[in-house]
Amino acid sequence: MEHADAVVVGAGPGGSAAAHFLAEAGHDVVLIEKESFPRDKVCGDGLTPRAVQALRSVGLADEAEGAPPGWQRQQGLRMYGGGVVLDLPWPQLEDWPAHSVTATRATMDEALARNAVKTGAHLWERTEVTGPVWQRASQRRVAGVRYRREDGTEGEIRAPIVLAADGGSSRFAVALGLHRLENRPMGVAIRAYYRSPRAEMGMMEGFLELYRGMGEGGAEGGAKKELLPGYGWIFPLDDGLVNVGWGLLNTSEHFRSTNYRRTLDEWVAGFPPEWGMSAATRVGRPRSAGLPMAHNRKPPLYRGAMLVGDAAGMVNPFNGEGISYAIEAAAFAAEAADTALRARSDGPLLRYERAVADAWGGYYTLGRIFVDLIGQPAVMRFCTEHGMPRPALMRFVFRMMAHLTDRRPKDLTDAVLNTLSRAVPAA
Ligand SMILES: Cc1cc2nc3c(=O)[nH]c(=O)nc-3n(C[C@H](O)[C@H](O)[C@H](O)COP(=O)(O)OP(=O)(O)OC[C@H]3O[C@@H](n4cnc5c(N)ncnc54)[C@H](O)[C@@H]3O)c2cc1C
Repeated sequence: MEHADAVVVGAGPGGSAAAHFLAEAGHDVVLIEKESFPRDKVCGDGLTPRAVQALRSVGLADEAEGAPPGWQRQQGLRMYGGGVVLDLPWPQLEDWPAHSVTATRATMDEALARNAVKTGAHLWERTEVTGPVWQRASQRRVAGVRYRREDGTEGEIRAPIVLAADGGSSRFAVALGLHRLENRPMGVAIRAYYRSPRAEMGMMEGFLELYRGMGEGGAEGGAKKELLPGYGWIFPLDDGLVNVGWGLLNTSEHFRSTNYRRTLDEWVAGFPPEWGMSAATRVGRPRSAGLPMAHNRKPPLYRGAMLVGDAAGMVNPFNGEGISYAIEAAAFAAEAADTALRARSDGPLLRYERAVADAWGGYYTLGRIFVDLIGQPAVMRFCTEHGMPRPALMRFVFRMMAHLTDRRPKDLTDAVLNTLSRAVPAA
């Protein structure tokens, strides 16, 4: 039987950040990952200014600037919809940077995991956590994890602090008896890589109009086309590739009946030829995955284990962003764990749940109302047609969706969004 101060399950952004923060606080941390780095992960590979800040918080300062090879920096978001193309620079704010960065998850997640190791965490790769170790037979409190290495050897490691950061399907949370809440929003998105001149555009791109049944030639060519209440993206990457994808929410009636792969192919076929995206320039095969949103697994502290990131369904329901929230939650969890370890008491762990609720509880409640509304094609169409031609309104929507406000309000957008987020209860 091995021992540590803390064991972290999963070395995605949430797990690696938690291991970094705990090691930085002087604790003995074991970070367990079933794959080995570099490893692929289905994602848009986009880090908004909020996530850039999160990278800075773990000390990846160069990556946060988009400086190392494999990283790229952008000025803003170009939005397409309602017959309008709108360039929205990232806002100039006190609390947040004014740029975004991109990197493939192979590059990004390896940087985060190696950073945790540099800080002092022990990374066990090719090691799968197979279940919890309980403190007592009553199974009230987790006291460690069971694991199996690639070579088949099995073992147990005990620790007073256990964090589950094992992604959306979180087998660990399920083993604790904590399942997803079916009435909370969930997204599914698909992405593919293309070699394209769009990799040089210096902007992220977002698309509010996606159609099903577009046929050859894209939206214009199809006689029967149906607006989907989802959105698409093209995110440029450093090495001549773009990440192209689109996603849909489970609040939409099309959620289960849509062929995601075919819709992606039809949408890409409608791009201008000079964008250079076709089967011939596609790299690898398209892959899809779920986005667990708006705290769709709770509470984040359960039977002594802390759930971080997708394991606790922490993806922002407004825009599908999950990396920043996984890293921010890791910081809250590590702070609570550090206090609990020093006090030799579980009491301070409760601070984790409170910190998450205070940080985004109200905002995510608003997000649940938002996804219910835009799950209806008629509402989505109305918003696109009437919103896109109004740049001032779109700048407000942009900041609301990217969750970018200053704590000390500098303008009306800060004041309205902060007040709304505080007025609406976390749930
Ligand atoms: C198509 C798509 C596009 C997206 N685009 C973006 C985007 O552009 N920007 C953004 O911010 N977010 C995006 N997201 C969301 C984002 O990918 C997630 O929110 C983010 O990865 C959450 O990080 P995490 O650390 O919680 O979990 P994960 O990144 O899922 O990491 C979990 C880790 O745990 C490991 N693991 C799992 N089980 C075990 C086990 N039993 N033992 C050991 N290890 C285990 C896994 O191998 C993995 O490394 C997208 C999601 C999808 C599906």
